[in-house]
Amino acid sequence: MTTAADTKPESRAFEADVSRLLHLMVHSVYSDKDVFLRELISNAADACERLRYEAIAAPKLLGEDSKARITIAIDADAKRLTIEDNGIGMSHDEMVEALGTIARSGTKAFMERIEAKKAGEGATLIGQFGVGFYSAFMVAEKVDVVSRRAGSGEAWRWSSDGKGTYTVEPAATDDAPARGTRVILQIMEDAKSYTERFTIERIVKANSGHVPVPIAIIEKPGAEPDELADGAALWTKPRADIKPEDYTDFYRTVAGAFDEPALTVHFRAEGRHEFTALAFVPGTRPFDLYDAERKGRMKLYVKRVFITDDAEILPRYLRFVRGLVDSADLPLSLSREMIQSSPILGAIKKSVTGRVLADLEKLAESNAEAYGKIWDVFGAVLKEGIYEDYERRDTLLKLARFRTTASAEARRSLKDYVAALKPSQTAIYYIVGDDLARLEHSPQLEGFRARGIEILLLADMVDSMWVTSAPSFTGKKFRSVTQGAADLAEIPLLDTKDEAKPETNEAVSGFIAFVKLTLGDAVSDVRASDRLTDSAVCLVASEHGPDRALEKLLQGSGRVISAAKPILEINPRHSLVAALAALGDDEKSFKEDAAHLLYDEARVLDGERPNDAKGFSDRLARLITRGLGKG
Ligand code: ADP
Ligand code: MG
Repeated sequence: MTTAADTKPESRAFEADVSRLLHLMVHSVYSDKDVFLRELISNAADACERLRYEAIAAPKLLGEDSKARITIAIDADAKRLTIEDNGIGMSHDEMVEALGTIARSGTKAFMERIEAKKAGEGATLIGQFGVGFYSAFMVAEKVDVVSRRAGSGEAWRWSSDGKGTYTVEPAATDDAPARGTRVILQIMEDAKSYTERFTIERIVKANSGHVPVPIAIIEKPGAEPDELADGAALWTKPRADIKPEDYTDFYRTVAGAFDEPALTVHFRAEGRHEFTALAFVPGTRPFDLYDAERKGRMKLYVKRVFITDDAEILPRYLRFVRGLVDSADLPLSLSREMIQSSPILGAIKKSVTGRVLADLEKLAESNAEAYGKIWDVFGAVLKEGIYEDYERRDTLLKLARFRTTASAEARRSLKDYVAALKPSQTAIYYIVGDDLARLEHSPQLEGFRARGIEILLLADMVDSMWVTSAPSFTGKKFRSVTQGAADLAEIPLLDTKDEAKPETNEAVSGFIAFVKLTLGDAVSDVRASDRLTDSAVCLVASEHGPDRALEKLLQGSGRVISAAKPILEINPRHSLVAALAALGDDEKSFKEDAAHLLYDEARVLDGERPNDAKGFSDRLARLITRGLGKG
């Protein structure tokens, strides 16, 4: 550890990623510089909340100065803006760690997105991304951070012009806060407006009005502090007293967002456990929605003291929900770890999860359009719950919306689907894959279409996960159309004249047996199909074992080594099949070519390549030659 006794300023280079970020920050993310102030205020408020938490175990950290505050001081003549807090402060090592590196893992992806020239979007991402502090260099040519860790006798000064290096040196104790952090910005000439009270007041009111620490402004050197925001916790107020714009402002503060929330859930639970929850469904997709960690961001407070944002209050499939829970019953004296395993927290989690889902359901009923928009953005994540949260599976299936063969928008509910079941239809049919356009045109759908049976088109990665967890909805099982026998004979065709077409005759049966013999091991079976109407062939999976599309997905992700052999289904009513079946034994080699080509055709329709490229091209060449009358 370094102590104040080593007096000479220590110069260090920023970590490479910080330099890259700073460069980006200054050169491409220019559309909304205001964001720097919100970031610095949010850091100051975090520092006050962390102190309050540490002071539960060590009350002497607070000393005489127990009321948290943030002060913004302007010195227009010197072009200086100072943001000061009396929070936890930073030690030398904490400073080097926090202000010289980037802790979060997703930074690279973030920078790539900004570098992809979406400057406006970049600005809206900064806050969510935890690179907040560095945004000061968008408006400052030099930044000094003077900080004293709560309870420490020494203070440190960090200083940088944001161009690759920074220095750290001991700060004169009389020139440092008694506790906490002072961030001093030397404002650039072209950002001078940030030394005007009017501008600062506007930004604070619009972006930080509901930070849970009071914020005061000192208009010019020597002036008295004037309160801009009172630091009252919005969530403790009755709903009737809160205006929609207060909610929006608060949402922006907790989520680091710039949009409007798509849904606000605010309630107080009384009874066995007393707590308040204020949660928001964002209006747009947060940048980290698909992070491997899948971590939620709901904050946990106890009696208005911030405890942790790691409490996993909501299940992972609700990780996009932002907000907080403030408990009146959890003992403040418990450590974070003990709070995590408390049965009270367990009950709170259950209740908040239930309420968020219930409010989504209510919205779905009262405003299908607004709910549909939420589903478009977060549906793929909500669907994770269908296989992860067995207890709430029915609720989640009710919330789910689908693209189907009957609806061009992904807005069809299972309730709608079941209401439109055909007589004798006992299953909910689906097809799963990664390409919606191909799914729609899959030959496997033809027999279903001809009977007016609706099919769910599932093209999200997550779909292959939940459909295999064998759910059912109101007693109807989910069934893949590419698996097992179609069993469609019971359900009448829409256009009855098709029924008149001859079913499998002896010649066709003979041909099917011939194809089976020819293809040998390549397929597990060849049989007549009742799921085809227009196409001659398709591939399906056997009744047991994974669906074909799923098998492919699993193979792609390395989770399955050997795929089961598919079944080739042949349409006995197809004219091509009838013509081939009519050929005599003297055409054996031609029929063999045809058998292979039919199989390859089925593979191509499934998005695969012919089995044996050379064999395929030779056969095709022979066929074309014959077609030209030269064979
Ligand atoms: P984030 O706030 O998401 O962690 P920032 O870039 O805004 O990212 O801040 C980096 C880190 O610097 C913070 O996590 C904190 O440890 C430290 N820090 C910044 N400002 C302050 C402050 N006013 N008081 C104490 N620590 C601070
Ligand atoms: Mg921050």
